Amino acid sequence: MIQFESKIPDGPLEDKWENHLEHVRLVGPRNRPSYDIIVVGTGLAGASAASSLAAQGYRVHVFIYHDTPRRAHSIAAQGGINACKNYREDGDSVYRLFYDTQKGGDFRAREANVYRLAQTSTSIIDQCVAQGVPFAREYGGMLANRSFGGVLVERTFYCRGQTGQQLLLGAYQALEKEIEMGRVILYNRSEMLDLVKIDGRARGIIYRDMVNGEIRSIAGEAVVLATGGYGAAYFNSTNAINSNGTAIWRAHRRGAAFANPSFVQIHPTCIPVSGDYQSKLTLMSESLRNDGRVWVPRDKNETRAAEDIPDSERYYYLEERYPTFGNLVPRDVASRAAKVVCDEGYGIGQTGYSVYLDFRDAINQQGADKIGEKYGNLFDMYEEITGESPYQQPFRIYPAVHYCMGGLWVDYNLETTIPGLYAVGEANFSDHGANRLGASSLMQCLADGYFILPQTIGDGLQPMFRDKVDISHPEFAKTEAEVRDRIQRVMSIQGDSTPLSIHKRLGKQLWNECGMSRNESGLRGAIAEIDRLSEEFWTNVSIPGDADDVNPTLERAMRVADFLEIGSLMCRDALTRDESCGCHFREEHQSEDGEVIRNDEDFSHVAAWEWQDEDTEQVRHREQLVYEAVQPATRSYK
Ligand SMILES: Cc1cc2nc3c(=O)[nH]c(=O)nc-3n(C[C@H](O)[C@H](O)[C@H](O)COP(=O)(O)OP(=O)(O)OC[C@H]3O[C@@H](n4cnc5c(N)ncnc54)[C@H](O)[C@@H]3O)c2cc1C
Repeated sequence: MIQFESKIPDGPLEDKWENHLEHVRLVGPRNRPSYDIIVVGTGLAGASAASSLAAQGYRVHVFIYHDTPRRAHSIAAQGGINACKNYREDGDSVYRLFYDTQKGGDFRAREANVYRLAQTSTSIIDQCVAQGVPFAREYGGMLANRSFGGVLVERTFYCRGQTGQQLLLGAYQALEKEIEMGRVILYNRSEMLDLVKIDGRARGIIYRDMVNGEIRSIAGEAVVLATGGYGAAYFNSTNAINSNGTAIWRAHRRGAAFANPSFVQIHPTCIPVSGDYQSKLTLMSESLRNDGRVWVPRDKNETRAAEDIPDSERYYYLEERYPTFGNLVPRDVASRAAKVVCDEGYGIGQTGYSVYLDFRDAINQQGADKIGEKYGNLFDMYEEITGESPYQQPFRIYPAVHYCMGGLWVDYNLETTIPGLYAVGEANFSDHGANRLGASSLMQCLADGYFILPQTIGDGLQPMFRDKVDISHPEFAKTEAEVRDRIQRVMSIQGDSTPLSIHKRLGKQLWNECGMSRNESGLRGAIAEIDRLSEEFWTNVSIPGDADDVNPTLERAMRVADFLEIGSLMCRDALTRDESCGCHFREEHQSEDGEVIRNDEDFSHVAAWEWQDEDTEQVRHREQLVYEAVQPATRSYK
């Protein structure tokens, strides 16, 4: 059975990280070059971790399925990155960022991790400024800040609507420097398909060369997964089309516990689905809610254009229901509220499933130029996609799948339940509980990669000095053979269903039954339907072409096979968490006015699932959450 030891240090919350650093085992600088560390992924988490580890002297092997590290999904991040610098002098502090994150996550995250994240946040901004990241500035030169949902301060640093891109360019330059110095070896167009364990420890990976289909192995003393989230299981999501869950799922099948898989964030401001042939959804950054006002017409049968509807006939439902936070309520609250008004028949557009996000008042007050300075590229992106200009008429938006709070379970050192296997960034479950606050993912990715993992990895590595294995070890040949067999099995089915059609149907199940609201019978039905889809996949999928060539359909099929298993676990996790909390809205547990009702007595824990085998259901373990610095209270944004 898996051993869970969160390794949270003793002592007062404020001192835990410092204390930990004083006692954690270290690898000396002269010994570091003898360690090989495998990093999978070059988003913000992977690029920052790989460059920092290489700068310390480790030999780092970096794997990506893209051509270049800059294509990682992190490049798409728009709105900003949080840090409690308190430049606005509006009352921000480490404690307030910690508290906002705990409250935003509906008190389902570890105190010690969240506090460390808040402590580390300020260094991230210094690091990025030193790299030359062009954060927006005030007229006098001070870094500018704006607000994101769920907070009453302005602590979000941003580069217009391209913050992820600029941060990634910073991390990428640091990585390129290490590649040039020879301390990082980059393996692009190489997809990790399995993890190799020797004597219970992660000792390497199996990967497929996506150009010639060769299956290869690499050995190391540690493996770091920075492979992002699994939200693309829903098919339609704001994730990059290639984002997938294979790396963490394969690690899970080798023994890494998977935590809170059903905690998936639905982002309130996305361009609505327009038809069945759409391959992805586009996010419109939450930063727009700083100045944009969300509303629907009060009359369900309204036919007038938005600009012709007077204020008295507009239902600013977030401002009315949540006067304190208004349009800046957290994402889960805003998304559910949009769903409720649309379900009640107030939605706009052809499908009735969208609401307005309106800049009329902001443009009148601040001028179109000022609004363009803050959000210009988002306005342009929206116009290019929809043909409508938000300068002239409101955005039409609806919630869409966006981010996974769930992921591989990690301890305070970011080590999974497999010794030597680490998970950073969106790939782990760590800091956001049941709902992530906007602009906190970039913060966590860079905290993990620049500041936490480089200081904790030595603890597990130090005892491995000169304990090398190479790929001649029989476990590599055995795992490689298993990967080849699996590919062969998929290729040989030659049925009638495409991986795409199975993926779409999986996505519909997850969206309908394990999306913004969930209930017992829907979840049970989804589990049965996903079983049927799996059966169809393994008996009737069709893959054209060869396995030893460029073959995007094969790549998709392997990912869809894993999404089917992930989707099933998500539904089982949602079913067993018989409470509502954050993004996880169980219809059975809601107040009269539709707010979530948590059950702290029975569910104040992390659910961590342990893989058994193909024929046995995973075992659900609990990591009890202990609250000392905050007392979980009913979340209110009213
Ligand atoms: C449109 C959009 C806007 C966003 N805006 C914000 C924002 O303003 N602020 C904020 O805080 N968050 C934002 N987010 C969330 C944030 O961007 C992501 O959570 C974060 O960038 C994830 O980074 P990551 O490094 O964990 O993974 P990713 O950036 O997803 O990178 C994953 C990497 O892993 C590699 N990889 C994956 N699997 C394999 C495999 N099997 N083999 C080889 N390589 C593999 C990929 O090639 C890639 O390099 C936004 C998200 C979206 C979709």
